[in-house]
Amino acid sequence: MDRYVRQRRRMVETQIRARGVRDERVLAAMEKIPRHLFVEEALVDQAYNDNPLPIGEGQTISQPYIVALMTEALALTGKEKVLEIGTGSGYQTAILAELCACVFTIERIAVLAAAARRVLDGLNYYNVALRVGDGTYGWREEAPFDGIIVTAGAPRVPRVLVEQLSVGGRMVIPVGGRFTQDLLRVTRLSEDPEDVKKESLCGCRFVDLIGDHGWPR
Ligand code: SAM
Repeated sequence: MDRYVRQRRRMVETQIRARGVRDERVLAAMEKIPRHLFVEEALVDQAYNDNPLPIGEGQTISQPYIVALMTEALALTGKEKVLEIGTGSGYQTAILAELCACVFTIERIAVLAAAARRVLDGLNYYNVALRVGDGTYGWREEAPFDGIIVTAGAPRVPRVLVEQLSVGGRMVIPVGGRFTQDLLRVTRLSEDPEDVKKESLCGCRFVDLIGDHGWPR
């Protein structure tokens, strides 16, 4: 058996299922997607370790467990339209592309976006639209979204993103200070964008969400 297949199985059992992620579709996607293709050559041997890794430009690919937890919190069935802010390596994008109808993803750093696009195309993820820009504005022409996932830490929940959630839609977003945040699930309850339910999933530590509705550049 391919050594990466073995490493992925172990990752799912010991890091993800063991910590309480139960959504079988999420677990299957984590077991399927070749995370080692999303990291730099020199870090391939660490791709399935229980930690984030650098991807260049001062950014990171998130810890596998956090990717699984955030994805599970979106409660995807396969029919959803999802917005991701912070494409990074494209790994989380690939997980989403397996589990929903289509993904719209925004990355502010062009070289990361180009690298992610190459890997996603190589894996035939044609249900992914990617653009470079400030994702804190969302993607208004494509709204509403059934799910929004923000993979960088924000000082607050940007109202402009809640406005782009469908009623009943869920947003997962780390919110807090520059060094630690609270991972929140925000569910939109009605047409009024102020009418939301906020649940705290866990403490976390993400790189900054930099933009007009995030941290200053
Ligand atoms: N989900 C990614 C993965 O699987 O590799 C990890 C993303 S990394 C923790 C956060 C990413 O958010 C970085 O690539 C960073 O450049 C990006 N980012 C930060 N602020 C952004 C913004 N306003 N719009 C789009 N991307 C942003």
